[in-house]
Amino acid sequence: MPPIALTPRSIPSVDKLLADCAPEIDRYGRSLVTEFVRELLEELRGGKRPELVAGDQFEHSVFQALLRSKLVSIARNSQRAVLNLTGTVLHTNLGRAVLPAEAAAAVAEAMTSATNLEYDLDRGARGERDDHLSNWLTRLTGAEAATVVNNNAAAVLIVLGTLAARKEVIVSRGELVEIGGAFRIPDIMSRAGCKLIEVGTTNRTHLRDFADAIGPRTAALMKVHTSNYAIHGFTAQVAEDKLAQLAHERGLPFIVDLGSGMLVDLDRWGLPHEPTVRETLAHGADVVTFSGDKLLGGPQAGMIAGRRELLARINRNPLKRALRVDKMRIAALEAVLKLYADPDRLRARLPTLAWLTRPRDEIEQVAKAVLPSLQAALAGHADVALVDCRSQIGSGSLPVDLLPSVGLASRPVDAGRRSGRRVERLAAAFRKLPVPVIGRIQEGVLVFDLRTLNDPSVLVDQLQHLVLEVPGASRAAPNTDAQKATAS
Ligand SMILES: *Cc1c(COP(=O)(O)O)cnc(C)c1O
Repeated sequence: MPPIALTPRSIPSVDKLLADCAPEIDRYGRSLVTEFVRELLEELRGGKRPELVAGDQFEHSVFQALLRSKLVSIARNSQRAVLNLTGTVLHTNLGRAVLPAEAAAAVAEAMTSATNLEYDLDRGARGERDDHLSNWLTRLTGAEAATVVNNNAAAVLIVLGTLAARKEVIVSRGELVEIGGAFRIPDIMSRAGCKLIEVGTTNRTHLRDFADAIGPRTAALMKVHTSNYAIHGFTAQVAEDKLAQLAHERGLPFIVDLGSGMLVDLDRWGLPHEPTVRETLAHGADVVTFSGDKLLGGPQAGMIAGRRELLARINRNPLKRALRVDKMRIAALEAVLKLYADPDRLRARLPTLAWLTRPRDEIEQVAKAVLPSLQAALAGHADVALVDCRSQIGSGSLPVDLLPSVGLASRPVDAGRRSGRRVERLAAAFRKLPVPVIGRIQEGVLVFDLRTLNDPSVLVDQLQHLVLEVPGASRAAPNTDAQKATAS
């Protein structure tokens, strides 16, 4: 039976409805509430809200509920905290590095007050925004000079655009990387106005390949850290010091895009070696670029460290103004760089490093603490088990090195053929939580890697909000078919 249309007179007026909305107006403001009240009434008149009508009565309580849900959903921040249990510590789609408390405090202070961003307090005159960071960067890398731009892609762009515009840059074919989010070395080269000269082959490049390619239009030799893939087998790369030597013999700068770039040796925590900026500079690199929010564990930023005269040219490039970082990121980065001055306590203070070096047993304790609650929350829906798994560093760092970890694996019960869809829905239910929980799906199982969960209660508290579809509901149709088939 079609819903009985309300007569226009039995639809309450906007003013009348607003009169009942004092708490909503107080909370969300009159303008938004009025807009949504009008919207709902419009939808009702357009026949799109049959639930607002019972017989010939207007359903006030349904109206209130619909209005509230519209308000709640618009008031919620679009970008919000999630629990990254994907097992990828530096997940680009989930915002990469989680910053330390020191950085958060510094950002809060910088954002809520005026600062000496470009003001020299000693002289009472204009200062340089770079000064807040360049001292730390030179101290931590041994570089003569350093600057910071928006991200590492911007760093590569401005370095090439300054040192090699309308000229040629020689790069090994094995290093023409694409980083997630459309950063491709060949594209950046052309945007920077340089001509890319590829040398060698995908798997092997020799020093003589570079030497033979140097000509009158060559502006630089470049090395790109192949951060998100590894080539195995019959391979050859030219060592940094050899390339630096060749470049310098021919009067050319040697540029290195380190990608992640680390400021301390990860070996001391038993992690695979990642080249440090200091090492690369010591090998003779003239300019090194690296990211702020990868292994460094800071905010998005692109660091450029190297020889003083080259940095001076880069700083004079008008692009520098377009790519500069704001006071909040400077505050965050300064706070993070400061932590590197005390490597002994770095692990305890820097979340990225703490997670990457977290002992398997400690992760297992967290998994065991969460297990009973997750089992209870998913009872009748999925079987939950403790599993060994492997975390990745992510963001193109150390792609082949996986860290032993412990996770909770949820497998939908009686899923059979539909296991793919069932596990997708289970994952979707976790994404709908007030603090969305993001895992990874692996062979029909939803896995939460607990490496990045510090406090079990953060996850356990979310579980009470979990809304799962009734098992069997989605299988009703096939079951009926099966019954019919048996009956006939
Ligand atoms: C990640 C990466 C980039 C891009 O850095 P962003 O900070 O994300 O802009 C460039 N080059 C290499 C080798 C990288 O690994």
